[in-house]
Amino acid sequence: MTSRLAVIAGPTAVGKGTVVRHLLAEHPEFRLSVSATTRSPRPGEVDGVDYFFWTQERFDQAIKNHELLEYATVHGLNRYGTPRKPVEDALSRGENIVLEIDIQGAKQVKAAMPEAVTIFIQPPSWDELVRRLSTRGTEDAAEQQNRLATAKVELASSEDFDYQVVNDEVAKCAAQVVELMS
Ligand code: 5GP
Repeated sequence: MTSRLAVIAGPTAVGKGTVVRHLLAEHPEFRLSVSATTRSPRPGEVDGVDYFFWTQERFDQAIKNHELLEYATVHGLNRYGTPRKPVEDALSRGENIVLEIDIQGAKQVKAAMPEAVTIFIQPPSWDELVRRLSTRGTEDAAEQQNRLATAKVELASSEDFDYQVVNDEVAKCAAQVVELMS
């Protein structure tokens, strides 16, 4: 099988992280790209494992040196980007690699690497998305409104993706993603 680059994106709280974790646990032949970010680590997050936690200066330097395959400011707060070299190395070794990034980044990857398979994870409904965001309780009310405003814009651009998959059940959604990649 030729190596594949899959780009998974979707609105806030749709559960894309859970889908990707499930996919990686079931399919060790897929590797996750570790992103760089300017946000601070959350408790338990490890540098180089969850993210590369970079200063603003380090991030600027990476942009200047073309070290990033894509980058974006997410939710108007912090910058995130995909280091280019690990992705290129993995593909040249024939490995499958998964990027879990925001919609702006997904579009940049598709433009730079048209062979990438872009997959948009859809919520079963708008009401369910609102429910998932409020029940996970990691954002205060103002931040939830901010994220929902971004989600409206993101849902409107879902048609730009190669495929759309509804996350009504994690295992089913992950299996559909794997099928689309093979
Ligand atoms: P969090 O701060 O909660 O870990 O991530 C916030 C958002 O940043 C998520 O929606 C995630 O998809 C996005 N994100 C994570 N890594 C990258 C990246 O490398 N590039 C882009 N464009 N977005 C990313």
